[in-house]
Amino acid sequence: MAIESAELGFYENHIITGELFTDNVFNTCIGFNHPVTQADFILAIHPEDLLIRENAYAEALLTSTLKYEVRFVWKDNSIHWIKVTGKVVYDEQNQPVKIHGVVQDITAQKDIDRQKDDFISMVSHELKTPLTSLKGFTYMLKENLELLKDEESTVIVTRMNNQVNRLIYIIQDLTDVTRIESNQIKFREIEFDFSEFLIDIVEEVQSSTQTHKILFDVIETAKVFADKERTSQVVTNLLINSFKYSPKATTVIVAAHLQNDEIICSIKDFGSGIANDKQTKIFEKYYQLTEVDKSNAGFGLGLYISAQIIKRQNGRIWVESVLGKGSTFYFSLPLAK
Ligand code: ADP
Repeated sequence: MAIESAELGFYENHIITGELFTDNVFNTCIGFNHPVTQADFILAIHPEDLLIRENAYAEALLTSTLKYEVRFVWKDNSIHWIKVTGKVVYDEQNQPVKIHGVVQDITAQKDIDRQKDDFISMVSHELKTPLTSLKGFTYMLKENLELLKDEESTVIVTRMNNQVNRLIYIIQDLTDVTRIESNQIKFREIEFDFSEFLIDIVEEVQSSTQTHKILFDVIETAKVFADKERTSQVVTNLLINSFKYSPKATTVIVAAHLQNDEIICSIKDFGSGIANDKQTKIFEKYYQLTEVDKSNAGFGLGLYISAQIIKRQNGRIWVESVLGKGSTFYFSLPLAK
């Protein structure tokens, strides 16, 4: 009764026999007025979302928790967003036997999310033009003040310029999030030498900071097949974070190692570190740690965007960290064939 009043549909999916047991709310959720079979269920999923379910099942068998959101196409062609959650049940030999859990119609919530994203996308687009001209003007003003040797005003304008840059980064993050989520970002993959690429970015980022020195550990070389611009966005973001969240430290260490058929790039800082239970959360949208200094932080989008970029290129991204000692962010990319 509790499950029914929460408008959750119940199911039990027997992995070995392929049998599916569902209740009425479940059947209604996915557009049926009679008990559904496994085949009915899969056929009703939007074809573009089938892979999401497949990946979630593969992960569930490793983690014992099932969680995914997909679109269902009802017989009248209307689209309904359904969230599926479940737990894997194992037998005495530790073999997965069944998954049971609930489904929930989240179409209304998705609609609100879409309206919010449209709003963010419109606002960030409108803010971009005035900010870009503001950046140009503060730069010109700074040059004029330097010529006039007005040191005090130069310092003020430099600060102004930094804040304008910060705003531009935030707006760029907001634009990227909406573009990534609506699949508008096209990845232009080419084959390139990863070590040359990494050294170039490090040099560029190094020139923009006076607070930290970026040191190289072992940089192994390999050819990867990836989008250079997007991957450089990830490296830059990880480097800038490593400065932002280690205000008392002065060094950051960059490395690249070959492992099987991947290159693994790491960026190590000696800053605030991240508690164990937050180490996966920081890759979520808008997530920020409450305990760190937020004066330089953005919107909590940089790592989310980086994770999406790396995943789209069949790589992995993760962090190892000790609270109070520092963090090492890693990402991998498959080598070019
Ligand atoms: P932002 O920096 O704009 O807040 P990010 O998505 O880049 O957003 O990072 C999310 C959060 O993860 C940050 O707010 C910060 O709390 C934490 N974080 C990111 N990088 C580091 C780091 N190198 N060391 C400690 N905490 C970090």
